[in-house]
Amino acid sequence: MKGLIIAIDGYSSSGKSTMARRLAATVGYRYIDSGAMYRAVALYALDHGMIAADGSVDTAALTAALPDIHIDFAPAGADGRQHTLLNGADVERDIRSLRVSEHVSPVAAVPEVRHALVAMQQALGAEGGIVMDGRDIGTTVFPDADLKIFVNAPARTRAERRYAEMLAGGAKADFDEVLANVQARDRIDETRAESPLRRAADAVDLDNSGMTLDEQDAWLLGQFHEALRAHGHN
Ligand code: C5P
Repeated sequence: MKGLIIAIDGYSSSGKSTMARRLAATVGYRYIDSGAMYRAVALYALDHGMIAADGSVDTAALTAALPDIHIDFAPAGADGRQHTLLNGADVERDIRSLRVSEHVSPVAAVPEVRHALVAMQQALGAEGGIVMDGRDIGTTVFPDADLKIFVNAPARTRAERRYAEMLAGGAKADFDEVLANVQARDRIDETRAESPLRRAADAVDLDNSGMTLDEQDAWLLGQFHEALRAHGHN
């Protein structure tokens, strides 16, 4: 029997990537970070002068360049993480920079970008056995996903996590800037016309602000086993 499709959506820095990655490793599914794909497109746009000083995106140039933007994932390296490849180059570190975080949401609001990436994401999940996290996975990419989770936590808690992550990764960061970025991305993601951030009607909610990683893992694994049973997998 082919594996389930698991969609984990939620707000910026809600911890959804971590929980999605850990679940995938535990149950032997493939993990896809859809946000990394939008970040890679934003990096390409920045490096090719498609984002003006005022932050506006040259939509026409970016749309024309889409066939030249190839995104892949390298198998997990020594750090246990899957690295994102943009036209063959490992951009995992660059796509996590504040520079990319500041420009990714307007890029992700471009309908042509969404169409291209949603099609890629659907192809990656065609065989099932996948955990994908993002903003519109349960609503647009896999509206028939076998399990949908919607993760949320207060903006300040999410910014604190992101800030700690950036410092741990050796990056310089200013907490107020990180908080402002989390709030700005929430706003853009919620209000864009094309597949905005929305909780799918049949999603299970999770506010993980008071949870440890282990508690979160256990909760998600419980949801996974319930979904397996519901789909007659054991
Ligand atoms: O998940 P992450 O925060 O890395 O995603 C970066 C950005 O990509 C988000 O702020 C959002 O604007 C966009 N995104 C999206 N749809 C997805 C995943 C991410 O619009 N499925």
